[in-house]
Amino acid sequence: MDAFICVTCGVQRAPSDGRPERCPICDDERQYVRQGGQAWTTLEAMRAEGYGVDIRELEPGLTGVGIDPSFGIGQRALLVQTSDGNILWDCIGYIDDPAIEAIRAKGGLGGIVMSHPHFYGAMVEWSRAFGGAPIHIPAADRGWVQRSDDAIRAWSGSLQVLPGVTLVQCGGHFDGSAALHWADGAQGKGVLLVGDTMTVVPDVRYVSFMRSYPNLIPVPAEQVNRIVDAVRPYPFGRIYGGWWDRVMQAGGIEAVERSARRYVEWSGAGDRREPVDGGPDP
Ligand SMILES: [Zn+2]
Ligand SMILES: [Zn+2]
Repeated sequence: MDAFICVTCGVQRAPSDGRPERCPICDDERQYVRQGGQAWTTLEAMRAEGYGVDIRELEPGLTGVGIDPSFGIGQRALLVQTSDGNILWDCIGYIDDPAIEAIRAKGGLGGIVMSHPHFYGAMVEWSRAFGGAPIHIPAADRGWVQRSDDAIRAWSGSLQVLPGVTLVQCGGHFDGSAALHWADGAQGKGVLLVGDTMTVVPDVRYVSFMRSYPNLIPVPAEQVNRIVDAVRPYPFGRIYGGWWDRVMQAGGIEAVERSARRYVEWSGAGDRREPVDGGPDP
């Protein structure tokens, strides 16, 4: 039995005798099945093909964990390191011994939390590599789990996973879409890790909000306002999106509010309350 990994989204299934027919995550309107049809791989095959883990120090206490060459949707995970332990934010569809060694050298990991199902990756493999580290899945998204495991725990609303590290359910992209607030990040200004609960766009002064990013399906304006309301109580300056190049270095809640106003205005659901930087004069 092999635990197959979807080539398009990088999410691993429970072990099965043969290749599964479909990937429910890619069949959903928020994702897509790659042109050429559903395809699967395994960790063993990926190791033989020369995949490796790309580890990058991003700031003191934060390490990026991606796959080289890029795999799935190019997502990368983030290891938040604190004096009380480490937590892995988001996951990737690959793991190997050098990766485990590298994370152990940084103190290992005491839990895995994710922004949403597009970042579930090979979460059970990562958990088992670190003594069955708990995997916290929002109750609202439990049905998207593709490989069940005893390490999976349900949460909703908010959850402090370590002192100063808090999961916040925002909804929008998925009902359980979350952000992780790390109070000590960015030299104490606070950091928000968002995956694509809100996404840092190529103009990294802004974020945006979508039901489907690849298929360009928007979320309603009221959901955008709810996402902003959910993160507003948590002070932050920097925002890490779900990809290496999607980082807003500073700007925090003001940038999120400005982005939400722009979104709501162009959605036709209301007027923005003040001019957007770089936009025309009102
Ligand atoms: Zn898939
Ligand atoms: Zn997504």
